[in-house]
Parts: sequence; C-alpha cells; structure tokens
Amino acid sequence: MNIKPLWSGTLPHLPGRLTEPLWLFPAIALLMLAVIWGAALRLVAAERTAAERSALQSSLELADTYEAQALRALREIDQTLKLVQYAHESGARQLALHRLDERGLLPPDLLFSVSIADRSGAVVASTHASGRRGQVDAAQLAATRAGDGLTVSLPQPGLAAGEWTLHFARRLLARDGSFDGTVTVSVDAAYFVSGYDAARLGAHGVLALLGTDGVFRVRRSGEAVAAGDRTDPAALLLATDAARVAPSPWDGVPRYTRAHELYGFPLAIVVGLAEDEQLTAAHAARHVYLARAGAASAVLLAVVGLLGRLSRQLARARQAAVQEHIAHAERVEYLAYHDSLTGLPNRSLFSRLLGQGIAEARRYERQLAVLFLDLDHFKQINDTLGHDAGDDLLKEVALRLRGCLRESDTVARLGGDEFVVLLPVVEHDQQIATVAQNILTAVARPFVLIGQEFRISASVGVARFPLDGLDEQSLTKHADSAMYQAKEDGKNNFQFYSEARSANALQRVSLEASLRRALERGEFVLHYQAKRDARSGAITGTEALLRWQHPDLGLVAPMQFIPVAEATGLIVPIGRWVLRSACAQNMAWQRAGLPALRMAVNLTARQFFDDRLIGELNAVLAETGMAPELLELEVAESLLMHDVGRSVGILNHLRKLGVRIAIDDFGVGYSSLSALKQFPIDSIKIDRSFMRDAGAVPEDRALTEAIIAMGRTLSLSVVAQGIETREQADFLRANGCNEFQGYFVNRPMQAEDFAALLGARAGVAA
Ligand code: C2E
Ligand code: MG
Repeated sequence: MNIKPLWSGTLPHLPGRLTEPLWLFPAIALLMLAVIWGAALRLVAAERTAAERSALQSSLELADTYEAQALRALREIDQTLKLVQYAHESGARQLALHRLDERGLLPPDLLFSVSIADRSGAVVASTHASGRRGQVDAAQLAATRAGDGLTVSLPQPGLAAGEWTLHFARRLLARDGSFDGTVTVSVDAAYFVSGYDAARLGAHGVLALLGTDGVFRVRRSGEAVAAGDRTDPAALLLATDAARVAPSPWDGVPRYTRAHELYGFPLAIVVGLAEDEQLTAAHAARHVYLARAGAASAVLLAVVGLLGRLSRQLARARQAAVQEHIAHAERVEYLAYHDSLTGLPNRSLFSRLLGQGIAEARRYERQLAVLFLDLDHFKQINDTLGHDAGDDLLKEVALRLRGCLRESDTVARLGGDEFVVLLPVVEHDQQIATVAQNILTAVARPFVLIGQEFRISASVGVARFPLDGLDEQSLTKHADSAMYQAKEDGKNNFQFYSEARSANALQRVSLEASLRRALERGEFVLHYQAKRDARSGAITGTEALLRWQHPDLGLVAPMQFIPVAEATGLIVPIGRWVLRSACAQNMAWQRAGLPALRMAVNLTARQFFDDRLIGELNAVLAETGMAPELLELEVAESLLMHDVGRSVGILNHLRKLGVRIAIDDFGVGYSSLSALKQFPIDSIKIDRSFMRDAGAVPEDRALTEAIIAMGRTLSLSVVAQGIETREQADFLRANGCNEFQGYFVNRPMQAEDFAALLGARAGVAA
C-alpha cells in the first residue's frame, strides 16, 4: 500500500484539499485578517472623512463669523470717515475733528486715531495727542484723491517691531468741490485679527485681511502676526469654492482655507485651519484602530498557528499510526514467507515462486531447474558444538548460497539443513552443473565457529522442468531423491535425477517400513567380536554387534538401518532387546561353564540420553543376574560432546550402577583433553580410520601414539579396533596399546561360534 505525500494533489482535488487542516487554517486566517484589516481601514477612512467634513464646516463658520466681524469694524471706520468728511464739507475744517471728538462721535482713540491732512498730504489735525503728524503716504494720497471711495493703505510698520498700522482714508472736498485733503483713520493692524480663537483655529490656523491687490494687510497664525506680503487673491478666492486642502502659498502649511471678499471694501478675509491640527483626532483614532487591528491579527495568527500545529501533530500521529499498521502487515507477511533464522524465503514462498516459474517456463517453452541441497553431517556439528553454532553455520551457508546465484534465482530454506534453489531459466545441463559445482565449492570453504575452523560439505540433487517433472510436487520430490542419490554416492557431490536410481531409493523406503516389524518378527541377531589383550592375546571381552536377518535381503549390516532406527526412535526398543539379549547370552555362556567375560554393548545418542536408560539397565541386570562390572557400554565420542554437562551426569549415574564405560570411535569427535578428563570412563576405543593408514601416514601414526599416551596418562584402557594386519598390531603393541579388536584377531561371529572360540581358549567344551 502506498501513502501519497500530502503535497501530491493536483488542481482537480483542490476543493477537497481545502478541507485539509494544512489549507483550511491558513485560508481561514487570511479571510479573518482581510476582515479585520478591511474594517480597520474603513473606520480610519470614515474617521478621516468625518474630520475633514467638520474642518470644512468649521472653516466655513469661522469665515462667516470673521467676515461679519471685519465688516462691522470696517463699516464703523468708514462711518467715522464719512462723518468727518461730512463735518468738513459743512463747516470749519480745523474744528470739525475736535468737536466731533468732544461729542463722542469719534471712536475711542486707544484703538483708532483720526487725522486730517491738507491737499498736499500734510497732517493738519489728529485725535491722538501723539497722533499722526507729518505726511500722508503719497500712494494712498493719490489713490484717495482720485476717487470717492475708501482707500486702505499698505500696512505701515508701527513703532515697535512687528506692529503694523493700517490707514483707511477718504478724500475731503472744498465747497467748490475741489480736492481739499484727506481724512484718515489709523488702526493697529492686529486689531483685525484680535478675534483669533486659538481654541478653534489652533496654533497653525490663519486669520487674515487681504487686500484685493493681493497684499496681506494683516495675517495671524497662533501668536505670530505678519503683514505686507503678497499672494494671489484669485487663487485663494477660487480655492474657497473647492474647499480643498492646499498648502498655503505664504508658509506652505496645508490648510482648509476660505476667503470671502468684503462687500464694499477692497478687502477680503481669509480663514484657514491647519490640516494637521484638524485631523489630530482622526490620526489618533487611526493609530488606535491600526494598533487594535494589529493586536487582533497577532492573536488570530497565534491561535491559528496553534490550531494548525495541533492539527499537524494530529495528522502526523495519524499518518504514523497508518504507517505502523502497514509496517506491521508487511512484517507479518515477511514472517509468513521467510525463514526467521536466515531471512531466506521459506517453503510457502518457494512453492509459490516455483509455481510461477513453471507457468512461465511452460508459456515460453523454457527449462527450469530445482536444486535440493542438504548439508552432510550437519547433525554432528549441531550435536557437538551446540545449536547456536549450528544456527551460525546455517546463516553463513545461506549467505554463501546467495552469493553463488543470480538476482533472478531463488534460494529458500525448507527447514533444518535443507535448502532449495530455483533456477527459473536454464539453457542446458552444463549451466546447472556449473551452478551446482559453485554451490559445493562455496559450502566447502572453511567456516569459523566458536573460534575454530570447520569444514563441511553438501549433497545436491537436481530436477529439471520439463524433463524430470511437470509440476511442483514431482519436481521437488525428484530433486529430493536425486539429493539422496548424491548422499549415497559418498556425499559432497551433485546428481541429476535418474529414474532408475530412484527405484533403489524406493527400496530403502520399504526397508524402513519393514524395520518397524523386524522386532516383532524376531529378525534381529547379535554377533560377537572378541577383544584381546595386546600382549598375551587372551580374550578380555566381547562386543555385541547387531545384525538384521532380513527375509528377502539377507543379513543387513547395522550401518544400513541404525541411522533410520535412530531417526525414527525405533532404536530405543531395538537397543533394549540388544541389551537384554547380550546380557542373557553372557549369563548363558557362564552357566555353560565358560569364563565370565566383559560384554560390550553400543549405545546411540537417543539411547544414551533416554530418561529410561538407568531404569532399564537395572531391570536387565536384575533380570539376567549379570554382574554390573561385566557390562561395558560403548558410547561415541561425538555423542558425549553434544552436551558435556548432561553427559557427565548420566555417566556418573551409570558409574554408580557399577557398569563400565568406553568411549567409542575416539579421535574423530573433537573432544578436548579437558573435557575427556571430566568423563568418568574406563577405556577408549581408537577409531578404525586411524588403523587403515596407521602404517603409512606419518600424521596418523603420530596421532595414534599421542592418543595411546594420553589414555595411559589418564589410566584408561586403550583399545585399538579395526586391526587387520600384523604391522598394525606390531605398531600398536610397540606403542603400549592395551587391547586389540579387529579382523586380524577375530571377526564378529555368531554366538555359537564365539562360544566355541571361548571354550577352545578356556579349554571347555562348547
Ligand atoms: P563400532 O561400535 O565401531 O563397531 C565396530 C565395527 O567395526 C563393526 O561393524 C565391526 O564389524 C567392524 N570391524 C571390526 N573389526 C574390523 C576390521 O578389522 N576391519 C573392518 N573394516 N571392520 C571391522 P558393524 O558390526 O557393521 O557395526 C557398525 C556400527 O554399528 C558399530 O560400530 C556400532 O556403532 C553400530 N552398532 C552395531 N551394533 C549395534 C547395537 O547393537 N546397538 C547400537 N546402538 N549400535 C550398534
Ligand atoms: Mg563399538
């Protein structure tokens, strides 16, 4: 099962994807951010618009108010001028001013001073004591003289710095209508902007009186009063209609500015509200809204982030759980189809692969081959070095087998030391033979197990499709029987399946079946082989050797059926029979007057480790009445090494019974001297293989000498078995061997023959 990565989606899946937390949370977050900031910006804009509107509104109100005030002041001034004009034109001009003042018809001279000038512009009368003397400004004189209207002077610098005076004048006419001078009202320019209300106009607002000639008569911003500079009156008056914010030309401050022309006067009032000041509240509100939006965004992002994180963790956990399930399923499947020790495919998987292989070979008309492989003497390694070492060996064999094969080939372990190889495509037998030989060579390389080097071999059987079988069963069965043929041919080789030879195998199978019935039918007999003293030649004992009197096959040697009996467990009842018969025979000979002899009986591993052994021995000894010290049990060296601790325990029990113990086939079972010392034994029997070449191979001679010397050191009786020649006997005798057994001395023989031999020696008639 394949898990798609989270990002592998394509566009058509987008709506589905949007419901996934990875997309959903950011989408919600974006939406909410848009809402928050949209609302904040709308509020800011609304706040600003409201502020702008209110600034425009108040600029309008202020302008109206100021206009009214200015008009009132100007009209009052003009009224004074007209009054003086009237008085002048109707009476004595010198007195006129004086009288008017006395009557309180003139404005208070604190603010206004009224003066009269003659035709030349020289001031001739003034209400102000320190009032205006001297000359009227020539330009104003000319303007006043030219028309009947009111003229306004340019602002004239006052006494103190920053003070300005404005002169409002009208002409005076003589009775004859000729120009007779001017009347002037002089006013402190600041008077016109004294109504500057800082609460409404702020520190940067503007209140000004502007001449229609573009010259500011007076202008006030906060506390600062200026006059005399120019601007474009048309632009100002136009801007009034647009009521827009524009930087004031004189100081560049953006203002809501309004200018109203004063009807009947060459003047206009200007009112301006500084944009900055008017929008302060809106700006403050904007800061508040933006800060709130910022805070809300931060909180939102934190919450969404947290939720996203949690959901990601959840998704990850879910994915991990899914993956765990998959891994578990894969593991279960792996275990079901693989051998746990070597990791190779097991029988089930092999059978599937073979089935597929056969189907393909049939379709493409190809050949395939099945190779059955069994390790030779593996059981011995397992029994001797223990199961862990045996397991290590199997693992190493598995590795080596894999190394001999191509990627497309399969090697499986069927169980125990049985392996099977599938070559799915083969062209000819030579190719199979090469693979089989490679396998044999690979297995033959030395192995290192528990620090020691060992060699092992294998037997391989080959069956081919379609030649040797057309289906799975027949191919495996035939490869198996070919493997047995290889074993029969001396092991460490490979054999192709042959129908003729397989018939022998069938025979063997029937042999196994009849073995089961042999006991009941009394087909077993014992032969006896003498042991003699190496020096005197006297018979020291005898060894009971089993034979099977087969009704069809004749006398069958033990090596042909004992392995089968051992494997099937039949050896236990057979062994029981041997023990009882041997002891009974010995007692029979004794009763017949023959000398009491030591009787040796062989035990296999199964017999030796059988829990009932001691009980049965006791029973047989009691039953037959044979003295325990006459019974000698022969156990193979390799058998004892299988489980040293347990073996020592059993041997001790046997020792307590009083029976003797001999180690059989000594020298090939890997026992170390230290292990040997632990065993409570009486004698060792040197393996026959040493005898064969004892005369020829120097190493074997040396080893035989060493074994004899070691046995003597441990005070054991050393028996040489399989002696066939005089040379062997001489060599062994010379080296201090105690007893001899072999064809050179006596062959195994029937009980009667042995009794005769014994009787002849002892001088007793058999
Ligand atoms: P083993 O205990 O090593 O017995 C000695 C074998 O060597 C016997 O073979 C004997 O016939 C043979 N032999 C003796 N002298 C010579 C000789 O000079 N040259 C040659 N080539 N062979 C000689 P056998 O009787 O065929 O027995 C084979 C093995 O079968 C025995 O080896 C023993 O391990 C096993 N065996 C025999 N009888 C019994 C039995 O009653 N019970 C059990 N458990 N095993 C038995
Ligand atoms: Mg023996």
